[in-house]
Parts: sequence; C-alpha cells; structure tokens
Amino acid sequence: MSVTQQQVLDSLARIKSPRGVALTNANVLSPISASDGKVFFSINVDAAEARAWEPIRGEAEAAVRSLPGVTTVLVALTAERKPGSAPPPAPSRGAPGVQPVHAHKPPQGGGSPMARQSEIPGVAAVIAVASGKGGVGKSTTALNLALGLRDLGLKVGLLDADIYGPSVPRLTGLRDKPELDGERKMIPLRRFGLAIMSIGFLVEEETAMIWRGPMVMSAVTQMLRDVAWGQLDVLVVDMPPGTGDAQLTLAQNVPLKGAVIVSTPQDLSLIDARRGLAMFRKVNVPVLGIVENMSYFQCPHCGTKSDIFGHGGARHEAEKLGVPFLGEIPLHMAIRATSDAGNPVVDSEPDGPHAAIYRAIAGQVRDQLRGVIAAA
Ligand code: ADP
Repeated sequence: MSVTQQQVLDSLARIKSPRGVALTNANVLSPISASDGKVFFSINVDAAEARAWEPIRGEAEAAVRSLPGVTTVLVALTAERKPGSAPPPAPSRGAPGVQPVHAHKPPQGGGSPMARQSEIPGVAAVIAVASGKGGVGKSTTALNLALGLRDLGLKVGLLDADIYGPSVPRLTGLRDKPELDGERKMIPLRRFGLAIMSIGFLVEEETAMIWRGPMVMSAVTQMLRDVAWGQLDVLVVDMPPGTGDAQLTLAQNVPLKGAVIVSTPQDLSLIDARRGLAMFRKVNVPVLGIVENMSYFQCPHCGTKSDIFGHGGARHEAEKLGVPFLGEIPLHMAIRATSDAGNPVVDSEPDGPHAAIYRAIAGQVRDQLRGVIAAA
C-alpha cells in the first residue's frame, strides 16, 4: 500500500527542530506531496538558521524513507531571508527574499560565485542545454546531443532539470522510479547507454508546476548530488526554459563547464537566445554555441527544403555575438515522431541524416570540452 500524508506527518512529528520543537509544530513544512510511494516536501527556514537545519533535513528524509511503501523521497531545504537581515552565504538572485540552500556544503572560494561550487565526483563536465523559451525543441536537442556524445565514445548522463515540464520520461519512454544504492543514493535509470535522471521520475508533473524557484534549485541540487552518477565524461543538463531568476540561480549553482543554447530561427526566440547568452556570461559559464532547431522544413516525402521561418538567423546572430554556431537541425516529421515515441532519432535511425547532424554538433561540443574530459 502507498504511504499517506498522515503517515509522513506522523514520522516527522518525532523529529525535533534545532530549538527542540517537533518538526510538525515548527511551522516550517510545505504541504506534503505523497503519491504512489513518492514523497516530496520542503522545509522552509530562516536563512540565518539554515546550517543548523541541514542535518534535520537529512533526518526527515531518512525517517520518511524508512516508512513502508515509500520508494522515493525528496526533501528540499529552502531559506527565507527576513526583511532587513544579512544575506546568507549562498550566491543567488532567486525569488525576492528567498534563497536556495546547498544540501551539501560547497568548498569555500573567493570572489566569483562559481568558485563556491563543488564538482560532482566522477563527472568530468556538466553542461547545460538551455533556451530562451519553451517549445523550441530544447529537450529533444539535449537528448539527441547526449546520444551524439555517446556515439563519439564518451560516457554520458542526462539530467532533466526542466522542473516545470519534465519531458525526458516521454522522450525516453522511461517511467520507472529510481532505486537506492547502498549509500542511499538514487541510481539513475539506464537507456540507450545513458545514465538518466528526471524530476519526472520522482514527482507528478502537476506537483512540479507549483514549485517556487528555491524549491526548484534545491531539488536540482539533490538530483545532481544525491544521484549515483558513476564515472561520466559529460552530464547534459536539460534546463528549464527561460532566462528568469530560477534559471540564473541554477546556472550559478550548478558547476557548469559550458552551455548550449537552442533557438528557432524566428526573431523572437533569437532575442530570447540573446538573453540566454547574457545570462550565462553573467555567471561566467562559457557558451559552447547556438543550435538552430527547426531551422528549415524538410519534406518527409520528397526531401525538399523550405525556409519557412527565415532560416539562417541563428548562424548570423552567433557570428555577430562571437559565439560558435553549432549547427542547423531541420523541422522534420522523423525527429518529432521518434522523439514523442521515446525512440530518439540518433538511436533509432543512427545511419540517417538527422543522426549525422546531431553527431556533428556533439563533435564540436566534445572538442570544446576536450581539455576538461582529458584531465579527468
Ligand atoms: P522544449 O524542450 O523546448 O519545450 P521539446 O524538445 O519538448 O521542446 O520539443 C517540442 C516539440 O517539438 C516536441 O513534440 C518535439 O518532438 C518537437 N520537435 C523538436 N525538435 C524538432 C524538430 N527538429 N523537428 C520536428 N519536431 C521537433
């Protein structure tokens, strides 16, 4: 039988806050999401007390995990800054007055916010795939890019951090819940030779939709660090669309070695792409380049190309902005159909023209990361 909210609350009532009050009476718990054995909630505390709360977050997670019927637990610690109080140490421009908290203490570093991040043991390079807005094919590109990198002989993982609309379960056909290893880390699911983790494996989509920026950050931090990624050359992170505060916080807090920006040729999304570029530059993440998706329409019957969106804008824009242009992916039925059926085109049609395009993009990404991968 699945665990109920009441059972979760009963187990939390036995845990004490740093001031000795039962967690359930400390006025810090978010609503508890408990469905199908998957439990998610956050503990929202004053930033000044965040350090003292971290072990309690761990205790709460362990207590819920030990309940019968619980398969997955995610407990996020978020810190609310009281008006007028000193800012907490975590670097962030999250929602006003609200700061995410690292689940793990980052190493102390100087000046740049990036210096405060810790690497993920065993993972040589974490890269982001981002877009200025939704629906441009960011997730499709992230997965096929990961597969292209795999085809180049690299060990690759994919983290779906698109908390507002996790599409990796659909794109990969994976629906299982991750199991825990001996160290109680989540074991990523494996498909197509990739290690794959998605927030969609843990919570219902509707739950994710209502998360606030800091909860997103905390959940993503846990998915990066509480997952047994193993040895990876590249971990591709499918970012939430947009360039708002949540994205900036994420870009700032995840130890990124680079970012790929996906854009369609329309002017509007190019403006959005420019914002994406500015966002990564602001947090000193190198932009590995721009991919133009749905670049031209390719007829599935005769193969004729039509530039229905004014093709070539992204290449021109990339040149103007001084970032590499990684390639053009056509708008093609085969890409949509394979994506939406959980059989990404690089894997299902490895000898086709689309796979070749994604592999060429992957080659350029690999070349830019070569130093990092080789060093690892
Ligand atoms: P995003 O992550 O930007 O929201 P998705 O990757 O989920 O976008 O793609 C949105 C839709 O567009 C999906 O149905 C996907 O199959 C389709 N799609 C993405 N790229 C292409 C392409 N190059 N050709 C045809 N359809 C595509």
